[in-house]
Amino acid sequence: MSFSAEIITLFPDLFPGPLGASVLGRGLADGLWSLGTTQLRDFATDRHRTVDDTPAGGGAGMVLKPDILARAIDAVSPASDPRPRILMSPRGAPLTQGRARALALGPGAVIICGRFEGVDQRVIDGRALEEISIGDYVLAGGEVAAMVLLEAVVRLIPGVLGGADSHAEESFENGLLEYPQYTRPQGWEGAEIPPVLVSGDHKRIQQWRHEQSLALTRLRRPDLLA
Ligand code: SAH
Repeated sequence: MSFSAEIITLFPDLFPGPLGASVLGRGLADGLWSLGTTQLRDFATDRHRTVDDTPAGGGAGMVLKPDILARAIDAVSPASDPRPRILMSPRGAPLTQGRARALALGPGAVIICGRFEGVDQRVIDGRALEEISIGDYVLAGGEVAAMVLLEAVVRLIPGVLGGADSHAEESFENGLLEYPQYTRPQGWEGAEIPPVLVSGDHKRIQQWRHEQSLALTRLRRPDLLA
């Protein structure tokens, strides 16, 4: 059983988008993960295929209706579905590498993309949606946020990126930012690759990288060390 993602959206044509490129796209073609989209509008019941209405209490914009959204969720994800139901939302828990790793080990995810002013609170509560944010800024819709989440998750699915080791030293995996990377040419615009990296002394290289990671994290992201 491979990782199965289902996206509920008003803009299914945006997918797979960047998720179809490079190694993630190859993994998709090879069946290491799967991606389905559901058009929320297909679950509207009136002639105009309405999915939103004005906010109760007044104010700007429109809100996605709970009955329509719940019908879409129930159609793609019956109560027995083991996949978490995630709502992309600026009010959600910030996405972390840890959450991405946990999702990558699971059966997949049902991901709901909001639009307009968001979704009726009752469907968030009634369907126990897990709200996830990709950062402290407001997007126009949840589609790009869903792609960010899936890109972070899918690259961690075994086999998608090749070498299993390639994650171990990355930023956030050990609570630190990654050390600086270099590649040939040895000298470029008057700057040399740090000699320790071409010394062949793996112990010293490891130590240097750890020190660099620590220093960079202390400087840029002291919150990660706290
Ligand atoms: N009025 C809402 C913002 C709605 S933005 C508020 O102030 O909280 C419309 C949709 O875009 C949201 O429903 C959500 O699905 C998506 N979105 C916007 N910003 C996001 C973010 N930082 N992370 C994840 N999803 C986001």
